[in-house]
Amino acid sequence: MLGAAASLLNIKVLVLDSGDSAPAKQVIAPTPPLSHVDGKFTDEESVRQLASQVDVLTVEIEHVNAQVLEDIMKDSSRPIQVHPHPSTIKIIQNKLTQKRHLTKYGVPVVDCQEVIASSADPSTSMQGAIKTLGLPLMLKSQTLAYDGRGNYVVETEDDVGKAQTALGDRPLYAERWAPFVKEIAVMIVRSASGTVVSYPAVETVHKENICHIVFAPLRGTDQELDGKARRVAEKAIQTFEGAGVFGVEMFLMPDGEILVNEIAPRPHNSGHYTIEACYSSQYENHLRAILDLPLGSTELRVPAAVMLNLIGASSDMSEITRVCQKALTVPGAAIHLYGKSESRKGRKMGHITIVGNSEAEVRSRLRPLLEALPDNDP
Ligand code: ATP
Ligand code: MG
Ligand code: MG
Repeated sequence: MLGAAASLLNIKVLVLDSGDSAPAKQVIAPTPPLSHVDGKFTDEESVRQLASQVDVLTVEIEHVNAQVLEDIMKDSSRPIQVHPHPSTIKIIQNKLTQKRHLTKYGVPVVDCQEVIASSADPSTSMQGAIKTLGLPLMLKSQTLAYDGRGNYVVETEDDVGKAQTALGDRPLYAERWAPFVKEIAVMIVRSASGTVVSYPAVETVHKENICHIVFAPLRGTDQELDGKARRVAEKAIQTFEGAGVFGVEMFLMPDGEILVNEIAPRPHNSGHYTIEACYSSQYENHLRAILDLPLGSTELRVPAAVMLNLIGASSDMSEITRVCQKALTVPGAAIHLYGKSESRKGRKMGHITIVGNSEAEVRSRLRPLLEALPDNDP
């Protein structure tokens, strides 16, 4: 999607990812002698191979080798910009470091504490965390988490062993359970000079820890919520360095307080709706920000939008195409299939955004798609 936005601006993009048919490589043709790189985001040689061919480096995933990015920025024989700043990626890629950073700057987050499996010290032991944070609590991997694959709900003390086995020997921390009313997300664009602008706040609905549906703008009667959520998100992103878009995931608590759940230093699933629903998409604005161009308007250009993620239920790709077939008959529906070679349970295969004249209209346009989902669970 970043590549598609870049091609409209005639910005040349090279991609580092595994395999020749990685999704982004399917939509971007490099101009010889430049070439995409086949490798891992963590592999130093591969990152350097990409860097040797470009003027600006950016990431679409935080689980990268941030140290190499920092080294490249400092020692390269010719100037290379890296956005967002590698120090930002380093802070964000460890969720505990990220929470401590936000707390230091007065951004409200869920209470948490580090957990070391072998520790008897109450400030780092599982027993200590249960005592301080109560039950249930969310045990989380500090690193390499996505789509909830790094989270385990500990309901009783009997779950502790199961949780630690499930999360393996990754560094862990525990979070107080957040009995949120709803989940909210805001996309922020941070310019090279540090100005931050926000997209409208959206409601994200998760299923089995994976983002399922996004509603834009926020639903409900609280006229102040959009502004409140945007201010929290802007404050959070002001604390980081470097340009680009950031996704800020938040919990709306029963007393109206907004807590930051986590931040993504990149285009984000909760901002996919911006492609059809806003004047400038999160992808175009990411490019504008990292190239130090004037930022585009983040305003909605339609009254309402809803985004449905197409998540694999099994290896059967026809379950996904069935929903797309239905979407072809729905006015205002735009299909995005990512070109992943196989479907798997829980894998994001694409998404569909539906725009309309009201929340009621996009909801009614969404209904036949929900009915076509494999588990038919609206
Ligand atoms: P992502 O794909 O968004 O990167 P992730 O693996 O990093 O996901 P989180 O965002 O930490 O996981 O959590 C996934 C979901 O689990 C949240 O969106 C929320 O629904 C639920 N969740 C996370 N932390 C808590 C908490 N402390 N209390 C209650 N629910 C939580
Ligand atoms: Mg995450
Ligand atoms: Mg998340």
